[in-house]
Amino acid sequence: MRRYRDFHRESIEQPDAFWRREAARVHWETPFDAVLDRSNPPFARWFTGGRTNLCFNAVDRHLASRAQQNALVYVSTETGIERRYTYADLHAEVNRMAAVMRSLGVKRGDRVLIYLPMIPEAVFAMLACARLGAIHSVVFGGFAAPSLAARIDDAKPMLLVSADAGARGGKVIDYAPLVDEAMSRAAHAPPHVLLIDRQLAPERLDAPYLVHYEPLREQFYDARIPCEWLESNEPSYILYTSGTTGKPKGVQRDVGGYAVALAASIDYIFEGRPGDTMFTASDIGWVVGHSYIIYAPLLAGMTTVMYEGTPIRPDGGIWWRLVEQHKINLMFTAPTAIRVLKKQDPALLHAADLSSLRTLFLAGEPLDEPTATWISDALGKPVVDNYWQTETGWPMLANQGGVEALPQKLGSPGVPCYGYDLVLRDEHTGEPCASGQKGVITLGYPLPPGCMQTVWGDDARFVRTYWESVPGQQVYSTFDWGMQDENGYVTILGRTDDVINVAGHRLGTREIEEAISSHAAVAEVAVVGVNDAVKGQAALAFVVLRDAAAAADPKAADKLATAIATTVDRQLGAIGRPARVHFVSMLPKTRSGKLLRRAIAALAEGREPGDLPTIEDASALQQIREAVNAAGERQGR
Ligand code: AMP
Repeated sequence: MRRYRDFHRESIEQPDAFWRREAARVHWETPFDAVLDRSNPPFARWFTGGRTNLCFNAVDRHLASRAQQNALVYVSTETGIERRYTYADLHAEVNRMAAVMRSLGVKRGDRVLIYLPMIPEAVFAMLACARLGAIHSVVFGGFAAPSLAARIDDAKPMLLVSADAGARGGKVIDYAPLVDEAMSRAAHAPPHVLLIDRQLAPERLDAPYLVHYEPLREQFYDARIPCEWLESNEPSYILYTSGTTGKPKGVQRDVGGYAVALAASIDYIFEGRPGDTMFTASDIGWVVGHSYIIYAPLLAGMTTVMYEGTPIRPDGGIWWRLVEQHKINLMFTAPTAIRVLKKQDPALLHAADLSSLRTLFLAGEPLDEPTATWISDALGKPVVDNYWQTETGWPMLANQGGVEALPQKLGSPGVPCYGYDLVLRDEHTGEPCASGQKGVITLGYPLPPGCMQTVWGDDARFVRTYWESVPGQQVYSTFDWGMQDENGYVTILGRTDDVINVAGHRLGTREIEEAISSHAAVAEVAVVGVNDAVKGQAALAFVVLRDAAAAADPKAADKLATAIATTVDRQLGAIGRPARVHFVSMLPKTRSGKLLRRAIAALAEGREPGDLPTIEDASALQQIREAVNAAGERQGR
């Protein structure tokens, strides 16, 4: 581990020298004055005074040597559409989109909300923002209107870019009613919605704010829009993520630090080379999509494969056939997708020629040993788990093959990545843990380039939320539990907060509770995460009704439970929908009225919650136990 250890140590002890070297991976129109400004902790400013542009580095810079190489391969098994864009094509499309946006008033520093399905125009729109110096904020297409409206009001965008419809599993999802509702709910609705019309939705959206993309694209077909040279620390994007409160946080990222971090990561962690093809099966609405569908592969001059569809439609062999057809070298997805594929006919995997594939990367949720072993045996290729979060933008823990190939430890995403001063700390004392002792995963100041700069519009929240939760230390908390062995390998042991992880997506239980509370019949609710064999975790809701008689007979109870779950679809989006809604007459609380969430979660998983000396009424526990058992019996467990 010598090479790895030296490399990591240098990145922590001599960050200036380390990152100055890495910064050479990026084009700087104006060189930076200093590598790191640490005058205002916990804020860090990387490459101050340097001017660069993410779009220039991802697109324009490659025109000289790889204009005719594919930059973006788009495959939709929902619509049957397949498109290829060379770097020259991508450059032309991004210029058109940038010209259209500019004609609608978008300029440097303005926010643009992107609410789109997985279509190439989403990539054009993000890169066009980067080109103009506008700040994109992509909202996952599965979020419902109130969630979209809340993000509009926080980001106050100049423009919303949307489409007529998305598609999933063969079903068309009409965006028009969602956009319309969000526009009327939002206090800061933008003047225009730029509509990409896929001709999928049965009804055409018609509203005064609507501007159609296609005719404008024609109008600006030959447009050339220069890249805005941004100071390294100007914001590039905002990406909202869930936390312990109902209000999502806008994770804000810079320009220069992000470019350097991603360019380094694709080399050291992913071992991607210019000309390679990478298939990241995620969504542009998540951080993995931002970093590893779009920016990192393009910064590195690779070909990126963008996929709309599920891993099992038309059948469970589709991803493996994509590997064969497009000679994919690197693949990246979440463990949930692999657990889904594990249930498919293995012949589908073995029928494909996977010789181009070098490595499969997995992240977003814990990778269990059976899944890891199954997929690496089935593929006969290395599988690399990596641990990070929206806030960091790139992996914190991984086996970094481009630094030194280390032995794999099943059940652990590996060792701390260069740049991260990752320390496990005792939750009560804040002191570093001994090896083998469970602690909170923290990061020392400064966070490396590419990590969040602040919470959009709320520096105080950034400091309070992330830097003041470990006693006596000004360190960044990941809100994850972990344990480190004597060789430095870390195992992730779940969240320290009330955030759950369903199929690799982070959901705040508070957000789901707020959505459920908006149903008229609900007096009180607790949402907890429980183990799920496929999705990692599933959300369960325990509801106290205003009128208990409403769920007196099983039929009425089932109907009401469905209605309550559907409220979540409408308020938050289907990703937040609880797997089950249970009715109880009271929730376990402390005498001071605090919900005993961990106790509820334990009971829901069939474990005993242990001693609860502060509980107000212990019979509430019995109710949870009974509700879970009754549901198990009904399901024939
Ligand atoms: P998100 O910001 O939505 O990507 O969620 C980040 C959270 O997902 C982390 O804080 C962890 O709780 C979890 N997570 C991400 N990657 C891994 C991994 N490789 N192993 C275990 N948990 C992970």
